[in-house]
Amino acid sequence: MTNSTPFYTEDHESFRSVVQQFAVNEIVPNIPEWEEAGEVSRELYKKAASVGIFGDGFDEEYGGHGQRDAIVRMIILQELSMAGSGGVVASILSNYIGLPPIQRSGSKEMKSRVLIPCLAGEAVAALAITEPSGGSDVARIQTTAKRDGEEFIVNGQKTFITSGMNANFFTVAVRTGDQGARGISLLLIEGDRPGLERTRLDKMGWLSSDTATLYFDDIRVPTTNLIGEENTGFSSIVNNFNAERIDMASQSIAFSRACYNDALDWSRNRETFGKRLADHQVIRHKFIEMDRQINAAQAWCELLSWRLNQGDNPVAEIAELKVQATTTFEFCARESAQILGGASYLKGSITERLYREVRVQAIGGGSEEIMRDLASRQLGI
Ligand SMILES: Cc1cc2nc3c(=O)[nH]c(=O)nc-3n(C[C@H](O)[C@H](O)[C@H](O)COP(=O)(O)OP(=O)(O)OC[C@H]3O[C@@H](n4cnc5c(N)ncnc54)[C@H](O)[C@@H]3O)c2cc1C
Repeated sequence: MTNSTPFYTEDHESFRSVVQQFAVNEIVPNIPEWEEAGEVSRELYKKAASVGIFGDGFDEEYGGHGQRDAIVRMIILQELSMAGSGGVVASILSNYIGLPPIQRSGSKEMKSRVLIPCLAGEAVAALAITEPSGGSDVARIQTTAKRDGEEFIVNGQKTFITSGMNANFFTVAVRTGDQGARGISLLLIEGDRPGLERTRLDKMGWLSSDTATLYFDDIRVPTTNLIGEENTGFSSIVNNFNAERIDMASQSIAFSRACYNDALDWSRNRETFGKRLADHQVIRHKFIEMDRQINAAQAWCELLSWRLNQGDNPVAEIAELKVQATTTFEFCARESAQILGGASYLKGSITERLYREVRVQAIGGGSEEIMRDLASRQLGI
């Protein structure tokens, strides 16, 4: 992606080269195989850990790199996304949504047990909020965790869970109290607990990411697995969403750029009506429309990342940015497909894959409708 703004230091740029190389060497050649398999290889997590992809925002004693640097996070997400597979990025980064509540509020024992193997790429974490009854209205979750002495007994279901088939640890939103936001807690549930069943979901995109429905049937979990105080999970979920949303915006912008590059390459080699496709004015204007929207979203993303690093928390703007980035991605995937013509309809190109992956960016982690609503409430409209 871009490297010409003052937000990036030399260290950022050398780290960008490392992630770029990782994407080119370890991701790009394997995408077709992983799409076919419905999941990435476990080796990928170890390799990602070895180049420093997991450490940002986690304590050094557990293998992290210390305080979160939103610019570093943007670099990681964008360089991985330029490989052109949202499924791969989602698989690698389910740690990014599953682990932060543990970093923020988990006990020392829990951090050692979970963060150390996950940050080393030896285990995988996932976040389980969404339920079959709905994902947007998080305050209404139905999965219950009832106290029984020193244990909780968990019953319910979660669905659409990224890395749901393969995760070793789940950060799960459960109802421990009354109805509404104040009755929700976060609970660590290990993947090998008796009573946990998983079924794989077939999807239109993110084919290399294993997505699952989880069934909790009288699972017994020690109360020490509570992440933070009982009935305070909602604010932790909201915090987590905020980070996930700027991450998804960063990805969507890079996916837009990947579509642009794919179409540019094609249009410089394809001839119609006696000249290169790129020499037709209508096609050139399509590129400028894409470039214009990508640059605008990228500039905003860099600014908001920088502001996060200054201690600011621009919730409304992050929600708006997510909408800006996903609509940009939707536009670029469509325009790139138009430029590729029939070739865009054949399996295998970056454009074909990303075209199928647009929807999840616009829905997951808070849909466009929910983002607009959140921003309007934040702005007091
Ligand atoms: C591939 C994939 C991976 C995912 N990974 C995870 C994961 O790892 N963990 C996890 O917990 N979840 C995950 N999700 C779930 C995702 O976060 C939800 O799909 C999302 O939050 C929307 O919830 P829903 O699908 O239940 O839609 P619903 O909440 O049923 O909403 C349906 C539609 O109605 C709109 N809508 C709802 N309420 C309103 C309103 N008040 N005003 C206007 N419009 C409204 C929504 O915007 C949406 O378009 C994943 C989803 C997908 C597709």
